[in-house]
Amino acid sequence: MKRVLLLGGTGDALQIARQLGPQHVYSLAGLGRVPQGLACAVRVGGYGGSDGLARFIESEGIALVIDATHPYAAQMSANAAAACRRAHVPCWALRRAGWTAQAGDDWRMVGGWDALADAIRPFRRVLFTSGREPLAHLDEIPAHQFWIVRCLDAHPGNERARIIDARGPFDIDGERALFALNRIDVLVTKNSGGEATRAKLDVARELRVPVVMMRRPALPEVDREFDSPAQLLRAMNEESGVL
Ligand code: NAP
Repeated sequence: MKRVLLLGGTGDALQIARQLGPQHVYSLAGLGRVPQGLACAVRVGGYGGSDGLARFIESEGIALVIDATHPYAAQMSANAAAACRRAHVPCWALRRAGWTAQAGDDWRMVGGWDALADAIRPFRRVLFTSGREPLAHLDEIPAHQFWIVRCLDAHPGNERARIIDARGPFDIDGERALFALNRIDVLVTKNSGGEATRAKLDVARELRVPVVMMRRPALPEVDREFDSPAQLLRAMNEESGVL
């Protein structure tokens, strides 16, 4: 029976993990909540780079690695592809499509923190929905700005930043209230794709609020790519002995 290593940390990965039997391993970095009630084994923590991951694949008799990490978890995706090459096992990846700008959107693409800081400089009330990175820059908030940072962290914030520790999905009414209450005039986000966190873009369009969008990182080539958990699970079903 083939043993699968599923690299996760996303809602899509959890959907796949729920379908895995006890011989398979669901792997998490350990930053968020560890899900309960899964039939498969759950492993928490890094491997010490691609060499460590290759050693784990070999010693645990893993026959297939599925990279279902977040599209911005580029380091882990690179490690997975390199480790699979070294260990001679196939690497499949769930690569969820990004959002695309629609009529009425004002998206400003940026590639890193310095470009992001420049892009938000004209604005006063910034909503970050791009993860924890802004927490490392709270001492650099310009005098004319107030930041609202929504991320998975119970950070206390400071006099010019409020941190909202919240996990999606987020609906449109909640997002409208968030923008209105905080008088948001610019949104910063990653292009995560999917439905769970898309409503903020709909609200930004309604209110004509510009969006500073962090570009997706380049990801490695893999043996097979899928754009939804359902498509990936179908392929696993078709491969004898995987599910
Ligand atoms: P990253 O920069 O690509 O990875 C950093 C290191 O974390 C990796 O080198 C690896 O450590 C460890 N790691 C990452 N994913 C792992 C996994 N599934 N299982 C075991 N170890 C893992 O990743 P990140 O951007 O910090 O994201 C960390 C986790 O959060 C990922 O699993 C990702 O799916 C999830 N996530 C990320 C984002 C985002 O915006 N980046 C958003 C939502 C969820 P070693 O080198 O020691 O093996």
